[in-house]
Amino acid sequence: MITVFDDMQRSHAPREFIVSGKPQPIPEVPERIDMLLEGVRRIGGPVVAPPGIFGDTIALVHDRRYIQFLSTLWERWRRIPDVAESPSANVFALGRATLPPAGYPDSVVGQCGYHLGDGSCPVTAMTWESARASAATAAHGAGLVLHGESLVYALCRPPGHHAASDMAAGFCYFNNAALAAEILTRAGKRTAILDIDVHHGNGTEAIFYDRADVLTVSIHAHPKRFYPFFWGYSEERGRGAGEGYNLNLPLERGTTVKPYQIALDTALKRVADFGADTLVLAAGLDIAIDDPFKGFAIQTPEFEVIGRQIAGLSLPSLVVQEGGYPSPHLGSNLASLLKGLLA
Ligand code: ZN
Repeated sequence: MITVFDDMQRSHAPREFIVSGKPQPIPEVPERIDMLLEGVRRIGGPVVAPPGIFGDTIALVHDRRYIQFLSTLWERWRRIPDVAESPSANVFALGRATLPPAGYPDSVVGQCGYHLGDGSCPVTAMTWESARASAATAAHGAGLVLHGESLVYALCRPPGHHAASDMAAGFCYFNNAALAAEILTRAGKRTAILDIDVHHGNGTEAIFYDRADVLTVSIHAHPKRFYPFFWGYSEERGRGAGEGYNLNLPLERGTTVKPYQIALDTALKRVADFGADTLVLAAGLDIAIDDPFKGFAIQTPEFEVIGRQIAGLSLPSLVVQEGGYPSPHLGSNLASLLKGLLA
């Protein structure tokens, strides 16, 4: 197993996000990296840094205006007199799905309303660099799989699966798993994305919703009472040519490993029926019982069981790190999952 990791990902270090209407300490902190690297050390194998990435590569799955917005946001925000320390939206391009906005504003405040999807994507001076390094990590991981590696772990941070083509949300800025899947698909691989993060991978779903060439499957806590609230329902099956190529498997809060494995079995059957020859595993470790989000109740040794079950597909796999927040077992949970995947 090869691990891809870029130290630049440490530099994005926001302090707060908005939850239940008020600023609270953010759990998506750089310290996650050391906990995850500890898990990697228990498995072994080389850790390599990715080469840099160009906007053109990120533009494979992201809107160019959005990339330009993120790359200039901090500097432009600081020029506004009497401004909050961190860029945030106070106007919202609501209704864009039903009535597309007639104009794209020049104002950075207006653009924040267009591209910052919720109160959990704080931007700092180093967000652009960290998000770019995270995308580079996933892209390089995809390249290693294309060169014949059977299991690659991309330690991506900030995570990516809530980021849509033109929108940041849920601690995510660039959609790392989607970028990797797009690179693999363009190279001729039949690629499925299996998202096991406790939150629905709504950004990934949106990016591939109209397409039949990339299968997206997500197992997550039911959105009726859990972020991202508006997506992740079983009725979302894809649209147009993409109809039937998105599968959502929402489960109740507090789900334990036994019912989880039944849903996972359904997910894996769909991946096999699709005829995938390559897997991108969007690996959120926040399904853990001691994760601060308290969505599911998976214990450390059960991550290995889940990993073994996924390994039953016998597909070359890129594991892209998504969520999973500070807890005493975060590193052990990663090691356990990887051990199962290597079985
Ligand atoms: Zn999550």
